[in-house]
Amino acid sequence: IEGARIAVMSLADRMEGLAHPTLRLGVTGLSRAGKTIFTTALIHALTRGGRLPVFEAAQSGRIARAVLEPQPDDAVPRFAYEDHLATLAQERAWPSSTTRVSELRILVRYASPRGAMRSLTLDLVDYPGEWLLDLPLLDMDFAAFSRQSLDLARAPARAALAGPYLAALTAADPTRPADESKARELAGLFTAYLAACRAETVAMSLLPPGRFLMPGELEGSPALTFAPLDPPERAFPSGSLGVMMERRFEAYKSAVVRPFFRNHFARLDRQIVLVDALAALNAGPAALADLERALDGILAAFRTGRNSLVSALFRPRIEKVLFAATKADHLHRTSHDRLEAILARLVDRARGRASEGGAALDVVALAAIRATREARVTRGGHELSAIVGTPEAGQEAGGHVFDGIEEVAVFPGELPADPDALFDPSGAGFRGLASASAEDADFRFLRFRPPAGIGADKPIPHIRLDRALQFLLGDRFG
Ligand code: GDP
Repeated sequence: IEGARIAVMSLADRMEGLAHPTLRLGVTGLSRAGKTIFTTALIHALTRGGRLPVFEAAQSGRIARAVLEPQPDDAVPRFAYEDHLATLAQERAWPSSTTRVSELRILVRYASPRGAMRSLTLDLVDYPGEWLLDLPLLDMDFAAFSRQSLDLARAPARAALAGPYLAALTAADPTRPADESKARELAGLFTAYLAACRAETVAMSLLPPGRFLMPGELEGSPALTFAPLDPPERAFPSGSLGVMMERRFEAYKSAVVRPFFRNHFARLDRQIVLVDALAALNAGPAALADLERALDGILAAFRTGRNSLVSALFRPRIEKVLFAATKADHLHRTSHDRLEAILARLVDRARGRASEGGAALDVVALAAIRATREARVTRGGHELSAIVGTPEAGQEAGGHVFDGIEEVAVFPGELPADPDALFDPSGAGFRGLASASAEDADFRFLRFRPPAGIGADKPIPHIRLDRALQFLLGDRFG
């Protein structure tokens, strides 16, 4: 029945597509990767005529106009574009990040290369990358989920972080009668453990259930109030805590995971996956390895195996996937290609498998909103390439606290020309980004304010946003 419903739905999508050509573009990535900024910048660039030399349809003047339209799905929150733009323009501050799925529809009127007027409806769907990690749960029962979760929690890398949860688990007896406060206590400690993993490194945060860290509007609901339990010898007795947890796990799958994949993921045509590779590069080789595993987890969702039940239901129809390393404005132009090469190396293993499914893949290093400019700075008689930006107020580096007004020149250091050097298991090739100010303080982790002068009618500065658009949308304007 499920399969039939999806077939009917995608038929409806297709019918609409024939009458009004429509493209659903997914924007995803882990928390803080840059989804909100990318989506805001993309909407602004299309509707306000951004400077997009590599995006051929825009560069050649074929886009007549692009306007926001009511979105097709009434029950999905609208992407808060106007609020986000207002925060950037009026407060010169970064808007709040993605915590749930949201949509926005843009209607683009354009001239075909031969001059015929056409329209394309572009649906943007912004959603947390964490949610993709739930897809494998659909093929698991509670016992399998528990086994996998607890094996990981007891492994040396995580055992310390999982300590409080594992202790509470030992003290709890899941064969005793169901008890809401016990369920809440265990779910709370398990969530705290997942959050601690995320704080530690990138990929360790990528343990399902994805909603435990990104609950969206489901925070505190029973479907999110469960936790893994050691499987009993036989079955949990009826009415027990174990049965309650089992039931909630099934509710999580049917009420949370399945609808997300059916209503959102399975309907996407194209996808951009944003990656904060610079944060991982700055954090060291372990974080980079974690990021690679994290990407693998995300990509698993795009190449669901042919034999699994899940794939039969949710075989994505995604034709193109773009991996984008965000915040490239923290680097000098000379390193942008190198950042792309590093990202390409990171997605390499996944690339092989995803292309089996027919999706075209590409990588780009971009800054959806460019917060810095480049400068040449003379230091010790040498001319050096620097980037100049305004650090956010309150940050401290080298004993100096920034006021949010002054600008600094940062020497961002060079990424290695050979990406493989970074993946040397000994870590010998890893130098991070040697970034220093004129006073030699470590400015690597500074966050810059967005650029001044963002407004409704002025192009917002960016790096390679046009390349991303050309890959993701270019052929649909042919
Ligand atoms: P989300 O969680 O994926 O929605 O992440 P956001 O889009 O909210 O981005 C998180 C933070 O990263 C922002 O608050 C900014 O500080 C920073 N950021 C995102 N995109 C850019 C960019 O293009 N340039 C710079 N300099 N910072 C960015």
